[in-house]
Amino acid sequence: MNAEIIAVGSELLTPARLDTNSLYLTGQLNDLGVEVVTKTVVGDDLERLAAVIQQAVRRTPIVLVTGGLGPTEDDVTREAASRALGRPLEFRQEICEAIEARFARMGRKMAEINRRQAYVLAGAEVLPNPNGTAPGQWIERDGTAVALLPGPPAELKPMFEAECLPRLRRLVPPLVIRTRFYRVAGMPESDLDQLISPVYRQYTNPVTTILAAPGDIQIHLRARCTTEAEGERLLAEVGSQIEALLGDRIYSRSGEPLEEVTGNLLRRAGATLCVAESCTGGLLAERITSVPGSSEYFLGGFLVYNNRMKSSLLGVDGELIARHGAVSEPVAEAMAAGARGRTGATWAVSLTGVAGPGGGSENKPVGTVVIGLAGPKSARAQTFRFLGSRERVRAMAAQTALDLVRRALSES
Ligand code: AMP
Ligand code: MG
Repeated sequence: MNAEIIAVGSELLTPARLDTNSLYLTGQLNDLGVEVVTKTVVGDDLERLAAVIQQAVRRTPIVLVTGGLGPTEDDVTREAASRALGRPLEFRQEICEAIEARFARMGRKMAEINRRQAYVLAGAEVLPNPNGTAPGQWIERDGTAVALLPGPPAELKPMFEAECLPRLRRLVPPLVIRTRFYRVAGMPESDLDQLISPVYRQYTNPVTTILAAPGDIQIHLRARCTTEAEGERLLAEVGSQIEALLGDRIYSRSGEPLEEVTGNLLRRAGATLCVAESCTGGLLAERITSVPGSSEYFLGGFLVYNNRMKSSLLGVDGELIARHGAVSEPVAEAMAAGARGRTGATWAVSLTGVAGPGGGSENKPVGTVVIGLAGPKSARAQTFRFLGSRERVRAMAAQTALDLVRRALSES
């Protein structure tokens, strides 16, 4: 079953305020097996809001409206819903009295404008609001349910849980949503899609979504089924085909970031790691140390931006640098070997590259990054070409270095 959310409030259309209610409601609906198919943010405008509600009820069986139930002129949700659904507003004395009583408990007298909050659409069920003045409303007709809910999150959430959840459970066929989640490194998004789309395109259930960040792709599978077992079976059917195609390029099946996965492999192997960074300026060490407990396997690093530092701290031969250039496989390999030799780490990874925007040459254009890896058996280096801004090149470099360490550990 599908739902639609309408968030009302002009402030939500400015950079100052974020519509967080719809995220909360989406999570709650998903837990019921209901998919949110559209959400709309509308300013405090009677005509526009009425049009949006009218369109929503025509196409979606569950419509949740949040905000605009306050007492002031700009709170137009009651009026807009009345127009959209063709139901007049009726004054309810008992709501007015409840609001008056609420003010009385605070030692205040109800303002005249609060009377607006005592109007209810004909035939609506009133949803009590123990945390504010505006009650919510629930309108059900011809298989469509519309809820009018308050905007303040502290009022919305308790009301949704106490009043809407039981009503929705009655309407919604028992459905479960099961998800599976892969993270993949070392593959451009287009290559990945070309590889796995022949599999996932055959299925409308589960739905597959691909989210890409530099050097890091997430694949989400969402299955909607009547039972958990059926959901898991569908996920396993599609997931196993995707896993077979991607192999060890999948680094996580539960969402942990690459630095955590690599760290766990190091810990499990009883191995240690150090880094020697030039073009990434500490970015790699920052990522590794962002994981709590990384001191168990991470020894530290060398920040060797200048060539003299590569020689003095890591013992890279100055002649090697002069002959091949700082961004070269022999130098990256010597950096890794030097870092490993000086720290006694099991593994050392090094980075040297042209992050740009300047500094590129014909045979070493901007984005050229060489990554060295020294381990118990040997030291080697590999050249990569990353595209994009300085920031992206550096992020890709750090990601790729982490992935090389991960792969080396999985192989050994
Ligand atoms: P209203 O019910 O429109 O009078 O909204 C009252 C207050 O609730 C607003 O000033 C916001 O601070 C908050 N609010 C309204 N709608 C939302 C929303 N969709 N997400 C988060 N906060 C909201
Ligand atoms: Mg408002």
